[in-house]
Amino acid sequence: MAGRVAVIGGGILGLAVARRIGQVDPDATVTVFEKEQDVARHQTGRNSGVVHAGLYYKPDSLKATLCRRGVGLLKEYCAAHHVRYEECGKIVIAVDDSELDRLADIESRAQANGVPGTSMLDAVGLRRYEPHARGVAALHSPTTAIVDYPAVARALREDVRDAGGSVRTGAEVTAVDDRGDGVHLGLRVRGTARVTPNGNHATASRAGGTVAEVFETVGPFDLLIACAGLQSDQVAALTGEDPSPQIVPFRGDYWLLRPERRGLVHGLIYPVPDPRYPFLGIHLTRRVDGEVLVGPNAVLATAREGYTLSTVQGSELRRTLAWPGFHKMARTHWKTGAREILRTASRRAFIAEARRYVPQLEAADVVRGPAGVRAQAVTRDGSLVDDFVLSINGRIVHVRNAPSPGATASLAIAEHIVSKVVPEPAA
Ligand SMILES: Cc1cc2nc3c(=O)[nH]c(=O)nc-3n(C[C@H](O)[C@H](O)[C@H](O)COP(=O)(O)OP(=O)(O)OC[C@H]3O[C@@H](n4cnc5c(N)ncnc54)[C@H](O)[C@@H]3O)c2cc1C
Repeated sequence: MAGRVAVIGGGILGLAVARRIGQVDPDATVTVFEKEQDVARHQTGRNSGVVHAGLYYKPDSLKATLCRRGVGLLKEYCAAHHVRYEECGKIVIAVDDSELDRLADIESRAQANGVPGTSMLDAVGLRRYEPHARGVAALHSPTTAIVDYPAVARALREDVRDAGGSVRTGAEVTAVDDRGDGVHLGLRVRGTARVTPNGNHATASRAGGTVAEVFETVGPFDLLIACAGLQSDQVAALTGEDPSPQIVPFRGDYWLLRPERRGLVHGLIYPVPDPRYPFLGIHLTRRVDGEVLVGPNAVLATAREGYTLSTVQGSELRRTLAWPGFHKMARTHWKTGAREILRTASRRAFIAEARRYVPQLEAADVVRGPAGVRAQAVTRDGSLVDDFVLSINGRIVHVRNAPSPGATASLAIAEHIVSKVVPEPAA
């Protein structure tokens, strides 16, 4: 029996976990706490919208197994909930012979991971799928898809509510106290100032006038699952978890193709990734709303939830710069970092990278698009954590690293987490 469950984070993971608990244990009482006024405001609502088929990931890693399982679950979920899901296919292009070995490695991984229908294409074959693309060879993945992740998150929120759970927005968890009778949470509540039911304690932060913010405590809970994305290390610190890995936020800017140039891209055009930086590489991505994204780059974000260069959160930036792992990472990867900064500063340099795959693309063909910030976990020794990472300590679970393909894998990650902490009732 799961009993009373608190989930931190109204991104796709927190909502998927909350829904899964309701499926496994209909008697559980689940509450999701989300600090923003709506769900899917951060990574879930600011990503490329791709349902990854599982081409790149190390066989048997959590990423590989949960991505593959997640694709099937997500496709089924979208069909049942009328969320747009389109198998537009993807090609990973080797622009010259120096990339052929790495492309062959990706093909082997795709096979080991059980990705269906992949095939190698030559320079002529790749144009059957993407007539404007150029390269010496490509790997085609016909089942790679695009989806509306915020719509998935909204559907999950409805499922949680339909199962009797609640999703409290504007409620930031600022304290966690795990004591005898269960886990108690301290909340900063914005937008709606209200005293909590059940005799929980609430204090207005401002005297007089309109109360915009109140502090309250809720609990006890029998289980706490934190899926706090960019804040996952900070939320882990509230429960005394190890500060390593720390989140180092990387902003990714996108450009959008002008409507009259969208025909340059039919589906998804990707570079062969550098195995040292699997999350880097500007790609061209069709979205379900018909827009075509070009990007993202990756530069150190000056605020974890800041989507422009001018948004700076001094305390967060100082924390990143003080992290020993950040210094080690910066020393090792400074050349790559400098290249990414150049692409951020210059539209021409950014588009030149995409033109390697689509030579007709010009800087004048794009307008500024959205931006997202990736929660990249970095260990104290400066290593970029690649796989999904969970930590389970008694009745508290933290998702410590859930980068791409975290949205693709979300329903499978939820199954995985819940199977570890909520026993399935006997049939
Ligand atoms: C630029 C970019 C491109 C990507 N592209 C893809 C892609 O194409 N395909 C794919 O599968 N994946 C992609 N990803 C990765 C994917 O978006 C993430 O793996 C996924 O969204 C993680 O979901 P989440 O719920 O953990 O995080 P989030 O969506 O960030 O949600 C975390 C939530 O926790 C809330 N929160 C944090 N702290 C607190 C607190 N103290 N109290 C209450 N609430 C709190 C936040 O407000 C937030 O809403 C991409 C990511 C980025 C940034």
